Amino acid sequence: MTSPREATDHVRRQHKETLAALPFHESDEASERGLVARWTGGPITAADGRVVWDVDAYAFLEGEAPDTVNPSLWRHSRQVSRQGLYEVRPGIHQVRGLDIANITFIEGERGVIVVDPLVSVECAAAALRLYREHCGDKPVTGVILTHSHIDHFGGIRGVVSDEDVAAGVPVIAPSGFLEHAVGENVFAGTAMARRAAYMFGAALERGPRGQVGAGIGQTNSTGQVSLIPPTVLVGETGEEHVVDGVRLVFQMTPDSEAPSEFHFYLPDLKALCIAENSNHAMHNLLTLRGALVRDAHAWAGYLTETIETWGREAEVAFGGHHWPTFGNEAIREHLALQRDMYAYLHDQTLRRLNQGYTGTEIAEDFPMPPALEQNWANRGYYGTVSHNVKAIYQRYMGWYDGNPARLWQHPPVEQGRRFVRDMGGADVVVAKARAAYEEGDFRWATTLLDHVIFAEPDHEAARELQADTFEQLGYLAESGPWRNVYLAGTHELRHGSFGTPLSSAGADIIRALSAEQIFAALAIRIDGPRCWSDHLRLDVEFTGTGERYRLTLRNGVLTHSARPQPDRAQANLRLPAPAVLAGLLLGGSAAPEDLAAAGGEIDGDPGVLARLVSVLDAPDPGFAIVTPE
Ligand SMILES: [Zn+2]
Repeated sequence: MTSPREATDHVRRQHKETLAALPFHESDEASERGLVARWTGGPITAADGRVVWDVDAYAFLEGEAPDTVNPSLWRHSRQVSRQGLYEVRPGIHQVRGLDIANITFIEGERGVIVVDPLVSVECAAAALRLYREHCGDKPVTGVILTHSHIDHFGGIRGVVSDEDVAAGVPVIAPSGFLEHAVGENVFAGTAMARRAAYMFGAALERGPRGQVGAGIGQTNSTGQVSLIPPTVLVGETGEEHVVDGVRLVFQMTPDSEAPSEFHFYLPDLKALCIAENSNHAMHNLLTLRGALVRDAHAWAGYLTETIETWGREAEVAFGGHHWPTFGNEAIREHLALQRDMYAYLHDQTLRRLNQGYTGTEIAEDFPMPPALEQNWANRGYYGTVSHNVKAIYQRYMGWYDGNPARLWQHPPVEQGRRFVRDMGGADVVVAKARAAYEEGDFRWATTLLDHVIFAEPDHEAARELQADTFEQLGYLAESGPWRNVYLAGTHELRHGSFGTPLSSAGADIIRALSAEQIFAALAIRIDGPRCWSDHLRLDVEFTGTGERYRLTLRNGVLTHSARPQPDRAQANLRLPAPAVLAGLLLGGSAAPEDLAAAGGEIDGDPGVLARLVSVLDAPDPGFAIVTPE
């Protein structure tokens, strides 16, 4: 087995240029300001003893950057990996570095309000323990979820229980929160999770030749993911709420970094929570795991609104990732730079697009204004100029770039075969790739080798050289996710597939799905060609809520309707709740005993349900990425 390689001379030269180009003389101590205490409890473990967060995994991030890591990414990861309890402002604390995100504690009159309780229950509970150790054993009197991403709500059961919430502890979230929090798992969840493993480098060793961080945080924790539905939904900008004596004023920012998100301001503390719309890195307009493209134009507009609303008075700004910005002037400057960055990306991409340039062309020649370029918080540690520009192009124009030569190209295997054949055979192409590699043209080497691997998946020399090439590209990358996806490609070529190490679809998430979302999840599992000629009609009643639906399978399509239907169904299914249906059908069983055990019953033709289950296809959480299969 091949172990990681040295950085080539080409990579070393690039790093030298980076060191000369960026203001490395500036202090990187902002992330340490306000430190109260480190977490000294060692690895955080699940009930079964499994480590879900290793707080010491990144202790190697000290001193000068090694040749195998982009020095800018090294500097950033060193800051992001710092951990402990920090005072943001008297009355506001954060625990950072105990998960990919921050958890924030705001002191109330009777207890403490928790903002964004991390990915995992275990990590959120550990953070709360650390807070209580130093700030007093206060009860949790409220929870605020700034947006619908899992790293901001998954650990909620580590800080409150169902009983607490039933007894009146509010869970406050932006409108649309629940639908989006669970919805992301419905449609493309499997593919996103597989690709997320590339993006976050979950299977990679931590170290100078492996994973050094993920830009927005170090990596995801791997504990229990939970969800308690919000009890207070905020829907209007300017809405004010008082929780445990603390005044909160909200600004809605839907369809920015997340589909459902808000900022809030604490007028009595002059503190601004900016959620995840302003960070100490360029964020993603389209994450490499895959997602809908975010709206850079709206995002920039919200930041302008924030600056104009609270920019003259806020004394500290904090968010769900990275460290706070201290001081009114610094906040205004920071928010304005972030705003300018997203607006510049958006506007200049559109300008060039209207001159006929394609996404790839625009991304290749996209100098940022020097003031943005030289600002550490605007560097592409998470998103990059390259893939964000392509994302903006995609949002407005889609995958087709207008050139008919690229309208109907062969897919990778067919293209690879023809390419290799017409270039003179696989060995010739690999030799050309080796020459490109030696010259430091890794981008061309990787294209050549991709064709060989898709034409001849067993070509050892091509696979080895592709692994080496990805590795050098990883060493070059300033973005954590870019480094991770390249090194993940290297890892899989050298050691085989790591599949999908983490899955986010826990029981709480399934329970929170609406009937409509579950029907949608079923519909995308239907193996169309296998049931083109079926025509099934099934009525489903959820006895818990009294909701009734007609499911119809026709032409390989499963549709649903809540309206009364003119014709009779072939069968009637009664179940306690939508989640039971998800458990049965997505679990692949509608056997009478399973149905009865789940509290369900069916009359009419039970064969209808059995047929429906039989044509459900399963997603593949281990699909091939860098090889054809
Ligand atoms: Zn986040």
